[in-house]
Amino acid sequence: MENGFIQPVPFQQVKLEDEFWYPRLKTQSEVLVPYAFEKTANAVENLLRTGSFLKGIADELPFAHRYLSSDLYKVMEGAAYILMLEQNKRIEAKMDSIIQIIGDAQKEDGYLYVAHTVGVKDRYDPWGGAGMGDKPYSFVLHSHELYNMGHMYEAAVAYYQATGKREWMDIAEKNARHVNKVFFEGDKNYNDGKPVNQAPGHEEIELGLIKLFRVTGDSLYLNMAKKFLDIRGVTYKPEGKGVMSATYSQQHLPVAQQREPVGHAVRAAYLYSAMAEVQSLLKTDEYTEALNSIWQNIMDTRMHITGGLGAVHGIEGFGAEYELPNAGAYNETCASVGNVFFNFRMFLLTGDARYLDVAEVALYNNSLAGVSMSGNNFHYVNPLEFDGEKPYNFGNPGRSPWFSTACCPTNIARLIPQVSGMAYTYDANNIYTGLYMGSATSIPVMGSNVNIRQITKYPFEGKVRFEISPDKPEKFTLNLRIPTWAGKQFVPGELYNYINENEAPVKIKLNGKAVNPEMKNGFALINRKWKNGDVVELTLPVSVKYNTSIDLVEENRNRVAITRGPLVYCAEEIDNGDAVFNFAVAEPSSATEIKENIFSEGELANIVQVSVPAIHYPSEGKTKSSLKLVPYFTWNNRGQGSMAVWIPQSSSVNDETHLAPDNDKGTLHQVQVSRSGQNTLEIEISSKIPQENTDPQWVSCPTDENPWMEIPCDQGKEVQSISVYWHDNGTDCLVPEEWELEFRSCTTWQPFQIYATDHYSTFRKQFNMVHPAAPLKCNALKLKLKPNPGKLAGIQSIRIDYTR
Ligand SMILES: [Zn+2]
Repeated sequence: MENGFIQPVPFQQVKLEDEFWYPRLKTQSEVLVPYAFEKTANAVENLLRTGSFLKGIADELPFAHRYLSSDLYKVMEGAAYILMLEQNKRIEAKMDSIIQIIGDAQKEDGYLYVAHTVGVKDRYDPWGGAGMGDKPYSFVLHSHELYNMGHMYEAAVAYYQATGKREWMDIAEKNARHVNKVFFEGDKNYNDGKPVNQAPGHEEIELGLIKLFRVTGDSLYLNMAKKFLDIRGVTYKPEGKGVMSATYSQQHLPVAQQREPVGHAVRAAYLYSAMAEVQSLLKTDEYTEALNSIWQNIMDTRMHITGGLGAVHGIEGFGAEYELPNAGAYNETCASVGNVFFNFRMFLLTGDARYLDVAEVALYNNSLAGVSMSGNNFHYVNPLEFDGEKPYNFGNPGRSPWFSTACCPTNIARLIPQVSGMAYTYDANNIYTGLYMGSATSIPVMGSNVNIRQITKYPFEGKVRFEISPDKPEKFTLNLRIPTWAGKQFVPGELYNYINENEAPVKIKLNGKAVNPEMKNGFALINRKWKNGDVVELTLPVSVKYNTSIDLVEENRNRVAITRGPLVYCAEEIDNGDAVFNFAVAEPSSATEIKENIFSEGELANIVQVSVPAIHYPSEGKTKSSLKLVPYFTWNNRGQGSMAVWIPQSSSVNDETHLAPDNDKGTLHQVQVSRSGQNTLEIEISSKIPQENTDPQWVSCPTDENPWMEIPCDQGKEVQSISVYWHDNGTDCLVPEEWELEFRSCTTWQPFQIYATDHYSTFRKQFNMVHPAAPLKCNALKLKLKPNPGKLAGIQSIRIDYTR
C-alpha cells in the first residue's frame, strides 16, 4: 500500500458484535432485503419482458419508467453485501436468475434501458414526452439511463466480491465500454455518430465507475468518471426553471469552480462524493477549493442538526442559506445517505476526523430515521416536526410500506450492511478508529497483523474498550477519534452550539493508566510499540445536551434541541400524554432533574429515553412537568402523533399565547365542480386518513366523462403540495383512471408542472400527493380527472399545503 493513503478495512472483514448494529443487520437480512425483493419484482418483470422483446417475443411490453431498474439494482447490491457476511443459497440463486434476466435485457452493443429498447414512453412524464427523450441518450438530463447503470455497476461489483462470479461484471463492463464509446468517442448508432459528451442529470455513474476501477484496476473507468465530472457545466447547461434549471443538477458551473451546494440534494451529494474519491485516487488537488468551500457552506448554513440535506420541497434540494424549516423540512433519506458517503470520502481524502463526525450524525439520525425498527416501513421525507396529521411523507402522515419512487428504502438496503466498513481505517503506520461499534477485526500495519476487539454500548454509552493484539510487537499509531459532540458543540460548523458544556472530559486509559495523548485532526494519537494484550479504554462524555441554533435560522429561535452522544432526540406525543407543542423546555437548573430510562420491551426495547424538566401548557394555565424524548431515528414507530426536535424554551414562551402550530385545519370554501351550475361545495380539510366506509365529500356525475373541480387558493402563499384521498368503494365508485392539475394565477389556466419524482398517482387508502416543480403562487387550482369507464370517481378528502 502506498504511503499516505488512508483506506478502510472492508466491512466484511469487520465482525459486528454489538447490540446496536448487529440486530439491525439481522433485520436487514431477514426482513428488509427479502421484502425489498418482493417490492421490486415489477422491475424484474420489466427486464424479463425487455429480454423477450429482444428475442422477438413481444406479447407483453414492459411499462415505461425511467429509474425503476435502479431500485432493483440497489436491493441486489444490499443483498450482495449480506452474502459477504453470511452464506445464503436462496438469495444467491435468486440473484443468479435475475442477473440472467438483466443480461438478456442488454442489447448486443451493451445498451441497457428498458423503455428505449422496447420503445415505450413514460406515462408519468412531467415534460410532455421528453422525460426520457425520443431515443437513447437524447435526454441525458432526465432519462436516468446513466444513473441506472451507475447503480448496476455498484451492485455487479458487490456481487462479484461476494461470490467471485463474473457474469454480472461482464454485463456491467460491456455497458461501461459502450457508454465510453457513445459519450466520448462516437458510435454510429447513437447521436448521429458524434460523441454525446454530456454529463448525466442525475449523478451516480461516476461512483459506479470508480467501483469498477477499484475492482478491475482498469483505468478506463476512472478516466470516464473524471471526464463525466469535468464536462459537467461545461459542454451542456440546461436553461429552464425548476428541474430544468442548471443548478438543479449542478450544471451551472464547471465542478471545480462550484463553491456552494445547489439543487437536488441527492444528486449533489453523489457528485461531491465522486469528486472527493476521484481526487484521492488521482492525487490531484483540482477539486480541493470546491470541496472545502461546499462542505463548509453546508455545515455553516444548510444542514439540519439531524445531518439532513436538501431542506426544501419542490426541488428536493438545498434552499437559501439558513433556510432550515422543521415541519416543512424535506431531507430525503437518500440525501443523508449521500451525506454519509460524501463525508466518509472526505475523511479518506484528508484524514480529518470532523468528516467522520458529520457522517456519524447523518447516519445515526436522518438516515436511520428512514427505516422503521421492523425494517419494512419507510420515510422518504424526514421533517423535524410533525403535527400528527399532515401527510408529509409522500401522501402518508407517517411511515410508508413502500414508494412509487423507491430510491430511499433501497438506499437503506445497501447502506446498513456497509456501516461496519466505517469502523476502522488505516495507512502505512496508523490505525484510525472511525464509527464506534462492538466489533472485531484484523488490520495489516507495518508488516504485522493487528487484531482488534472493540467492546462498547455506543451510541448509548461512551465507554469504548479496545483489546489490541498484534501478531508480533509493532510500532504504530492508534488514532482514536474524539467526536465533535464530545466537545463544545454537536457537529462541526457554525449552526449549532451546546448551552450546557460537557462537564466530564474525554478520558483515555492505556493498560489501566490514564494518558493524555497529543491531538491531531480530531484524533488522540497513541504512538508506541504495541504488544499482545494491550488495552485502551476511551470514555466519551455521553450525556444530555441542550443545543441552540444560530439566530439566522428563524424557525429555531428561542428553541432548543436535545442531543445525547451522536443522537438527536425528539419528543413524541405517545410518551407525553399531550401534543408535544403544549410543552416548553425549562432551564436545566440541575443535572439531577434530567432522567434517563431504558425501554425494556416493545418496539424501542434497549433504547435510551431521556426526560428533561419542562412546563406543560394544557388548554388552560400551566404546570411544572417533564418532557420525555426518544432518539429521532426511532420516531413514528409506535403509532402516529405529534413530534418535535426543536422545543421552545419556557423563558421565551408568553403564557397567553398558545404554542400549537397552525396545522391547516379548516374548510376549502367556494369549490366549484363541473355540471353543478352556480353551486359550490365546501370541503373539510383533514389529513387524517378517513375512516373506512365514510361518505365521500364529492362524487362525479354519472354522465360526466371529464369532471373537474376548481379550488380557490391563497394567492399570497406558495403552494407546497396538493394531496387527494380518493373515494373507492370497490363497486360503482373507483379511484379515477387518471387525473391532473392546472393552475390559474391571473385569468388563464396553465398546466401545473409537478416535480421530477412525482406522478399523479391513484393509490387507494392513502393521500396521493404532488408538488409544483417550481415555487408557485396561484389564485386557484383545477383538478381534472378521468373516471374509469362506466364508473364514478369521488373524493374523500383533499388538502392544499402552503410553504410556511
Ligand atoms: Zn430517495
